[in-house]
Amino acid sequence: MVYLITCDKCNVSKVGHGFDPKKRLLGVQTGHHHKLRIESVIDGGSGVEKSIHFKYSADRLHGEWFRRTPSLVLDFAARDLRDRGLKEIAKDVFLMSDCMRGSWYSDEEKIGLMNQMCNVLDEVERLVELESKDGIEFLGVA
Ligand SMILES: [Zn+2]
Repeated sequence: MVYLITCDKCNVSKVGHGFDPKKRLLGVQTGHHHKLRIESVIDGGSGVEKSIHFKYSADRLHGEWFRRTPSLVLDFAARDLRDRGLKEIAKDVFLMSDCMRGSWYSDEEKIGLMNQMCNVLDEVERLVELESKDGIEFLGVA
């Protein structure tokens, strides 16, 4: 598993890998003075972790800690969707994540767009949960 552990106060995230992110959170928490949370967990090991570290090296602060940019958050969201077989939605979210790495949008616009996208993804999550409960197909997944 590759995880994103986030401090909302500092707006920073740790990108790491391991089998037990919850246990890792407890370990990392003892070294940080704000409340941390697990923001995302995706499939993969050190290879995936390293490729994300490399991709976001411009946002690296120290060790495994990165600026929590909208692009990084959406990158994890897209990988999570892909892991779950929601490939078409994943593609759109990856595209949005990549657009936000450039300077097309201001930081304020990026945060607004990320929040909008996260609301959409929450709704997708809700529908997928309903679907698995009721056996109804809400999403035409290829
Ligand atoms: Zn903090």
